Amino acid sequence: MPSITRGCLATLTTIGALAGCGQSKPAASSPATGTADRWCTHVPRAANQAFERVAVSSQWFEVYRVEPGVFALVEANQFQEAISYLIVGSDRALLFDTGLGLVPIRPVVEELTPLPIQVLNSHTHYDHVGGNAEFEPVLAVDTPYTTANQAGFPHAELAGEVAAGSFCHGAPAGLDTAGFRTKAWRPAQLIADGDIIDLGGRRLEVIQVPGHTPDAVALLDRANGLLWTGDSYYDATIWLYVPETDLESYELSLEKLVALAPALKRLLPAHNTISADPAHLQLAREAIRSVRSGAVKGTEESGNRLVFGFGDFSILTSKPLLEGKKGDRTRGGSGLTTWP
Ligand SMILES: [Zn+2]
Repeated sequence: MPSITRGCLATLTTIGALAGCGQSKPAASSPATGTADRWCTHVPRAANQAFERVAVSSQWFEVYRVEPGVFALVEANQFQEAISYLIVGSDRALLFDTGLGLVPIRPVVEELTPLPIQVLNSHTHYDHVGGNAEFEPVLAVDTPYTTANQAGFPHAELAGEVAAGSFCHGAPAGLDTAGFRTKAWRPAQLIADGDIIDLGGRRLEVIQVPGHTPDAVALLDRANGLLWTGDSYYDATIWLYVPETDLESYELSLEKLVALAPALKRLLPAHNTISADPAHLQLAREAIRSVRSGAVKGTEESGNRLVFGFGDFSILTSKPLLEGKKGDRTRGGSGLTTWP
C-alpha cells in the first residue's frame, strides 16, 4: 500500500511528513488521525479555483470549465484527487476517465451535456476506471494488461483507499467502505495509436504512451493546443513504481509528448490540478533520464521505493524497476500493488 500521496514533494523532508505540501496518506491500517488534514488544507487547490466552477447537484465532484466544451470533474475529497474530463463536441462527447467509482459519475456528466457519451481511459488503474460500468460504449486499447483489469479490482486491494483517513470530509454518503470494489466492464471498441475520435467540431488524436502502464494513452486536441496526459505527467508525485510500470517505455513516451509541446497551450493531467505547463514535459523527460542513469540520488521510501524531487513534480519509483526488472503485465494491476 503506498504511503504517500501525489502531492508535490518539493519540500519533502521525511516520509509521512511532507511539509509545505502537507500531504501524507495514512497507511491502510492507520486510524483516522489528523494526517488527512494536512493534504486537505490544499483542496480545493488554488490552481483549480482560477477556473470557472460549474454548479452541479453532486456534492462529490467539483466541476470546472477548463476550456470551451472541456469540463474537469475533480474528486478532491479523496487523497488521490483524481480528475476525469468531459470533452464535448457538436455531435457527441468523450469522457476521458471515469474516476474512483465511489460515487456514480454518469448523473454529473448528464447534467453537463445531453449528447451521447463515449468513454476512454487514460489507463486502467483503479482510480480512472471506477465508473466505466456506468457507460456504453467504452473504448480501450488492446493489451493483455487492459483485458486483465476489466474484471474490476477487489476490496482487498482498495480497502486503504476508502479508509477514513483517505477522505477530507468523510466517505461519501451511502458508500459501503467495508466492501467497496470496482465493477467489471467491457470495451465495445478497440482503439490504437493514431486513431482519431471525432466528436463533431473537435478531433481528438489517440497517442499511446506506455510506461506508467502498458495501456496508457494521451489525447491530443491539436486545433486547440490541448493535451490530456493522464498519469504520464502531472504537477505532483508521479507514481512509477508498480510492476506494470516500464521506465524505458515511459521515457520514450515522454519523448513523443515533448515533441508536441511547442504547439500546446496547456496540459490537462489526471491528478490534483486541471492545468499544467507544457514546458514541464521537457523537464519530466530530463528527470526520468537522470533517475534512470543514476545521475541523481533519491530518498528511500517504504516498499523498496525511491523518491526523487524535481521542484514542481517528483518521481516515485522502485529499485526493481531501476534494476531493469519487468513485472508480469498479463496479470493486470490496480496501481496499488507493490513488488513481492
Ligand atoms: Zn492515477
